[in-house]
Amino acid sequence: MNTLVFASSNPHKVEEIAAILGGSLHLLGLQDVGITHDLAEDAQTLEGNARQKARQVWEITGKDCFADDTGLEVDALGGAPGVYSARYAGAQRDASANRTFLLQELRGASDRTARFRTVICLILRDREYLFEGVVDGTIAEAGRGEGGFGYDALFIPQGHTRTFAEMDPAEKNALSHRGRAAEKLAAFLQANPTS
Ligand code: IMP
Repeated sequence: MNTLVFASSNPHKVEEIAAILGGSLHLLGLQDVGITHDLAEDAQTLEGNARQKARQVWEITGKDCFADDTGLEVDALGGAPGVYSARYAGAQRDASANRTFLLQELRGASDRTARFRTVICLILRDREYLFEGVVDGTIAEAGRGEGGFGYDALFIPQGHTRTFAEMDPAEKNALSHRGRAAEKLAAFLQANPTS
């Protein structure tokens, strides 16, 4: 069976993407290929980080691989927090502090439009391919819902009234930025199998 390495040590993410890629591909996480250190991701863009992480895995393993990077882009804040989404309120990467900080930054703003954007970089036989998934929406006035993670309690996808945190995981995954990018990756891999 063809294998592909996903530059993630989060088993939930690996499982979610494996389900989208389908059963004909064996998806390995970082631990499965013996990578236990944090990969460097210090580029200024989502594309840059995805490429940087995928390149490191390719260089260590020599196996076909991909990496993803996601950011929340808020229009009234000029696209912030974007590539800094995980550490918007500081280096401690505290999701609750990030949400509080975002609400403060948006206080009084009439435009609350935003989008989640995921970029996936695939390296197949040493060539790079980029895939993007976007979900548009708005930032709620206050957090709602218990599910999800990160900014989910603040993000209302376009055409809906509930936040991502108020949806069950299957409903969120069907709409989500990461799911949309992974579907493009899946379509590409069907036409261009791994080695
Ligand atoms: P990553 O690139 O998937 O690690 O995402 C970077 C940061 O973006 C995370 O730490 C979260 O703050 C935020 N984020 C990414 N995906 C989601 C999502 O699906 N819901 C809410 N927040 C997210």
